[in-house]
Amino acid sequence: MTGLQDDALPIEAGRLREAVAAIFTAAGCDADEGARIGRYLVEANLTGHDSHGVIRVPRYVYWLDTGAVFAGRSAKRVVDAGPVAVLDGDHGFGQTIGEQAVTLAVEKAREYCIAVVGLRNSGHLGRIGDWAELAASQGLVSIHFVNTSGLGMLVAPFGGTERRMSTNPICIGVPLPDGPPLVLDCATSIVAEGKVLVALNGGRPLPEGALIERDGRLSTDPAAIYGPLEGTQPHDQRTGSGAVRAMGEHKGSGISVMCELLAGALTGGGCGRAGHKTLENNMLSIVLDPARFGTEALMWPELDRYVDFVKSARAAPGHDRVRLPGEPEAEMRAQRGADGIPLPRRVRSSLALTANSLGLKDTAAVFKPPKRA
Ligand code: NAD
Repeated sequence: MTGLQDDALPIEAGRLREAVAAIFTAAGCDADEGARIGRYLVEANLTGHDSHGVIRVPRYVYWLDTGAVFAGRSAKRVVDAGPVAVLDGDHGFGQTIGEQAVTLAVEKAREYCIAVVGLRNSGHLGRIGDWAELAASQGLVSIHFVNTSGLGMLVAPFGGTERRMSTNPICIGVPLPDGPPLVLDCATSIVAEGKVLVALNGGRPLPEGALIERDGRLSTDPAAIYGPLEGTQPHDQRTGSGAVRAMGEHKGSGISVMCELLAGALTGGGCGRAGHKTLENNMLSIVLDPARFGTEALMWPELDRYVDFVKSARAAPGHDRVRLPGEPEAEMRAQRGADGIPLPRRVRSSLALTANSLGLKDTAAVFKPPKRA
């Protein structure tokens, strides 16, 4: 989760959604797509993943301007064979394309009990937990493997110092009989790229050893990824000589390689490669309907029992209690839903700049700090 520094000011989630929707509508999306992008980005902030929230707005607008992503696109079915489908996202916004892909997987899982949907060439898919939550809201279990193309290739494999993989999230969602689902949603690198971006923009500093320089020195300096920077945020600049390190040493590195193979090679979207200048997300989603396993009478009570059993473990020093995957997000959603989403000064400035560049003076004003009395 990301922490923010003292200059962060809270903005109410609904107001932020409207501001982001206005920006994307002015930038060329229709009102539905603008609202959808606003909803998913603000949801990332609400769940504590500022790295995948509104900090991305200037970069997404830049991609729209430069033809790296397109408004109004729909996923095209390349293969549609019973429970299996392969979709091409045609470089549409990930918030639109991802929702279409997972909605199709949900429909197929309802029909066949299992669905396997490969998605390639989507715009940035944001917080992958959204897609597991979408399936879980329909009572379905889901597993998602994700990679990105060359621009997102920032992670060094275990034992190496050069970039060969992207931050490749893996996400698993399991609905519970009562309450929110369990959602494990993690980058396979020590930090997601967006967390390097958050650190650069005045948010929580990177943990020790998150980055590695080409000569093998460990680092926490975002310049290792972006190189020397002017202005508030990098868009596509990744000219640092270092890399992000894979989580969990050889094990995380191995899982990341598997994400490349499953999300990149199997979908036809492609694995990491040098010299590729745009960012596409590819995702392999496996969705299961637990109601079709014939184990419902055992499964739901067992899920309940095991969740309680795990949470009953004695807290280790420095921890108040044991949490399950998805719980920190649920807690943050409740807190930020009540108190607003804190945005640091540099993020507010870059959002105001983007709004002003589109002639949206009222929207830019949303990001201005209130005048001191
Ligand atoms: P993270 O480290 O904050 O959390 C990872 C997982 O651990 C979550 O499921 C969370 O619920 C769980 N968790 C966190 N603290 C916990 C605790 N104290 N006890 C128990 N469980 C806990 O997340 P991350 O790895 O930094 O990833 C951030 C986001 O970045 C994710 O939403 C991911 O999908 C997204 N991402 C997207 C892309 C992309 O290409 N679209 C790439 C990388 C990451």
